[in-house]
Amino acid sequence: MTLQPLLKAEPETRSIFVHTFGCQMNEYDSLRVVRLLAPLGYRSTTDISEADVVFINTCSVREKAEQKVYSFLGRLKPLKQRRPHMKIIIAGCVAQQLGEKLLARFEYVDLVLGTRAVSSITGLLEHAIETGARLVHLPEIDPGDELEFHCGLNGVQTHVVAPVTIMQGCDNFCSYCIVPFVRGRERSRPADAIIREISLLVESGAREVLLLGQNVNSYGRGLETDISFVGLLRRIQDETDLARLRFTTSHPKDLTDELIRCFAELPCLCAHLHLPVQAGSDEILRRMNRGYSRSRYLERIDRLREICPDIGLSSDVMVGFPGESEEQFQDTMNLLKTVQFDSLFSFKYSDRPDTRASRFPDKVPEDVKARRLTELQNLQAEITLRKNLDEIGRIRDVLVEGTSKASKEQSTGRTQQNRVVNFDNPDVPAGRIVRLRITAAFAHSLLGEAI
Ligand code: SF4
Repeated sequence: MTLQPLLKAEPETRSIFVHTFGCQMNEYDSLRVVRLLAPLGYRSTTDISEADVVFINTCSVREKAEQKVYSFLGRLKPLKQRRPHMKIIIAGCVAQQLGEKLLARFEYVDLVLGTRAVSSITGLLEHAIETGARLVHLPEIDPGDELEFHCGLNGVQTHVVAPVTIMQGCDNFCSYCIVPFVRGRERSRPADAIIREISLLVESGAREVLLLGQNVNSYGRGLETDISFVGLLRRIQDETDLARLRFTTSHPKDLTDELIRCFAELPCLCAHLHLPVQAGSDEILRRMNRGYSRSRYLERIDRLREICPDIGLSSDVMVGFPGESEEQFQDTMNLLKTVQFDSLFSFKYSDRPDTRASRFPDKVPEDVKARRLTELQNLQAEITLRKNLDEIGRIRDVLVEGTSKASKEQSTGRTQQNRVVNFDNPDVPAGRIVRLRITAAFAHSLLGEAI
């Protein structure tokens, strides 16, 4: 079905409330929805009770995330009863996975949009408003791909740090992961479209861009123009005025020497890398289908620190993968002690539909997973605090993002290594890079003073 947006000459002002679950790619898609609906008169609101449209972008990567979506949807029923004209739209991975079942379970939901349907939202929403129809749209191909999923900023405010998706989907099929089933196969976005979007963002105030993809290192496969991820980074350095560039997520198996050298060679590339390891045991990594061994991962870390000694490193770790023994869990703990990550995202394994791991035997009991997660998080908290304390006395350049949440008298920003720094002076404009001496360190942030 192709539906054209009904653009009105002077659209009346309407409001959209957006709630995003899950990853930064979902955040980016939600931002695209706000930009796409802006020409129809929609403005973002943080007050759901006055919204004409509620857009919920969902995540099913972990069971807990999916449960949160259902709980949120349950709370919308009385609101819809009070505001029957309000349209409720569910998008993202849960929408893709459940489709019609969501309409059946939540009779007050109006639109269910799959992961490749975001660019169709304007036409579908107008159709739902005019006809009262309840629709499910789960296209195989996102028409937005053909439009290079570029919709312009449409007057929507740009933040100092802006996300830009460079690819969608994943071909890796890690045995525990639902992403290839709900996001589809890997598709890269043409480099020209990415450069155009970054240039627009810089013109409207962005200083830092975070490039997003499930596996950014394999960017470029399948594109007509021959370009690699390193080629894309070099083009961004050469063709835009961006102050800072980061990317996520990097897959350790595709982290080449050429990419590692970029941390020394490209001035805009921040000295920070998020490199998910998931487990420290070779047997678990093999059953996860991760494509690298513990020793290969550690060798990549050594190489990164050789090329960029000051690099900040973060990672993802999963505990309680099916069959994970106590010894294999200790392999993960030892890997953390060896690498000394600056920060870590850690999770308990949960079965996801369609994945191979969901059919593996020897599931780890919930209480054992919980205990392992606590042990692991306690260890990482010690490491993070000690590394933060090591920062005291260092001089760091901080990109100011705004007023600190902790105190209206302070500004807040991040170092290249991605550490949050607060400092006394609420009047520094967002977007400025200031040089600070670190004077104190806490569990999740640093304190600095101007020099
Ligand atoms: S690399 Fe693995 S974990 Fe990451 S999205 Fe792809 S399949 Fe999932």
